[in-house]
Amino acid sequence: MKPAALQAGLARLAAQRLQRRRRTATPLPAEGPVVVVEGRRLVNFCGNDYLGLAGHPALAQALSQCAALRGTGSGASHLVTGHGPEHERLEEELAQFTGRRRALLFSTGYMANLAAITCLASRGSRVVLDRLCHASLIDAARLSGARLKRFAHADAAAASAALHHAAPGADLLVTDGVFSMDGDLAPLLELAQAARSADACLIVDDAHGLGVIGRTGRGCLEHFGLDGTAVPILVGTLGKAFGCFGAFVAADEVYIEWLLQTARSYIYTTALPPPVAAAARAALAIAAAEGWRRERVLALAARLRRGAADAGITLLPSVSPIQPLLLGDSGRALALSEALFAAGFWVAAIRPPTVPKGSARLRITLSAAHTEAQVDALIETLAGVLSHAAA
Ligand SMILES: *Cc1c(COP(=O)(O)O)cnc(C)c1O
Repeated sequence: MKPAALQAGLARLAAQRLQRRRRTATPLPAEGPVVVVEGRRLVNFCGNDYLGLAGHPALAQALSQCAALRGTGSGASHLVTGHGPEHERLEEELAQFTGRRRALLFSTGYMANLAAITCLASRGSRVVLDRLCHASLIDAARLSGARLKRFAHADAAAASAALHHAAPGADLLVTDGVFSMDGDLAPLLELAQAARSADACLIVDDAHGLGVIGRTGRGCLEHFGLDGTAVPILVGTLGKAFGCFGAFVAADEVYIEWLLQTARSYIYTTALPPPVAAAARAALAIAAAEGWRRERVLALAARLRRGAADAGITLLPSVSPIQPLLLGDSGRALALSEALFAAGFWVAAIRPPTVPKGSARLRITLSAAHTEAQVDALIETLAGVLSHAAA
């Protein structure tokens, strides 16, 4: 496309209130989930730092100690010279955390999903995904060259119908564990049943469930009591509840070895900086040892729901730290987000194409680092701006 076409495209986005803009945010972790944006102090209610670990001093210390000892960059891909002891240990600890034989580190969740789907699908297979799956899963399915089929959100019967009768053993059934923009949990028991009866491989991307959901924070699979037989491939990220950066696939030996040998998003890219792996190890240890963080963020989510209900505000049904307020219209979502911003709260408006057309929303998220008072103040302010907008 030429510049004139690009200009026209940008003007179209602006007219539809779909233009994005970045805001430079300076975190002040010593004060909790607080950021300074355009000179204003805001309480951040739209990040993914669910356990409040991103600003934890132990992570910063692990990172800086490792950097002083080993340097900053890994200098090469894992299969050349970039794979170091911090990566190796982190993989072992992730395997242990998830109860799998092995884990394989990736630089991002996006790349982990590319690997999992492109390496396990073949031309003859179908990749069957929930309609609200994360964009990286959809891109991976497209790139795989397999036939892509999307089913109605959380509809296991539709998933089952989409799967049946391809080559036995070839199909992939793919879902988020916790849906990133909705906060609800996939019906994993039913999906596992559908996968089993169609002899398909179930892949769960639990980017938002790991660390938070399940009796001990092992994610959606723990919540539903599903093991590696029911869900052979588990994808997780280190950039959300674990407050770092990076991602992994956890699975049995043969799957991991196959990904290691064949995944282009693993082979042709520089390994994660060792200090980031060191920080992730510290995060994992804290997440495992301090169950109160998980209990706290879920209690704050429940508090938000109660307070919102009392104020006559209906949030989407969700038991996770993701508590969206569905608005529909992008302009309205943007206006409410701006009003909250003016009042000292950062809640980004999520608009298409991140969510389906006509389903713009405020995606409110909680962190263990929030205080009850901050949550209460958000509810009060939200009720105020909503009644003002309605008047
Ligand atoms: C954030 C996210 C990813 C991507 O992970 P990154 O490490 O940020 O690249 C993948 N899947 C889901 C469901 C996500 O929410």
